[in-house]
Amino acid sequence: MGRRKYTAEGAPSISGVPDSQTRQITCPQCHEVARKRTSAVHRAERDGAPIYCSASCARSARRKWSTPEERRQGLREYQRHRQAADPAWRERRRASKRRSYAKHGVATNARHRERKAADPEYYRKYRAAQDLCQSSPEWKMRKAEYDRKRRDADPAAARLRAAILYHGPILGPIYAATNENRRRLAALEEAGD
Ligand SMILES: [Zn+2]
Repeated sequence: MGRRKYTAEGAPSISGVPDSQTRQITCPQCHEVARKRTSAVHRAERDGAPIYCSASCARSARRKWSTPEERRQGLREYQRHRQAADPAWRERRRASKRRSYAKHGVATNARHRERKAADPEYYRKYRAAQDLCQSSPEWKMRKAEYDRKRRDADPAAARLRAAILYHGPILGPIYAATNENRRRLAALEEAGD
């Protein structure tokens, strides 16, 4: 469970165990002072074994750390394996992600905004990772393709493009906006009749 913080009086007592039956140790994993039963400290000393403040520190000390590249490689292998076993797997996973985003997206974005305001360093790191990812040629190609599809799907944008083509980059948007307003007005008048 969560680590208890070192206080001025020393490490917190173990509940139900008098301090006289405990000793303070410095955890070799998190370097915080903790209180352990004297018998446990003696046993560790006898066996020449390290003694940690908590089960979670003992676990992370035992963990075999892999590099980010090894983890990515493992993930790729896992995905290939799943996809080979079940051709619908990727699409199902995507659909589930979309559902999840529709459900939690707004709340998640709000949480990120809060975190960004509270900790500029967190946001700087986040941005740096994003910039690195988005600087790859593959990403740029896919983004351009995505933008093109979005533009083609939006009739207002298509009108704007046509207006810019005919009237130039300065007058085009004005004409497009005027046409758009005219259309809206006509629609309103029709609805009023
Ligand atoms: Zn610890």
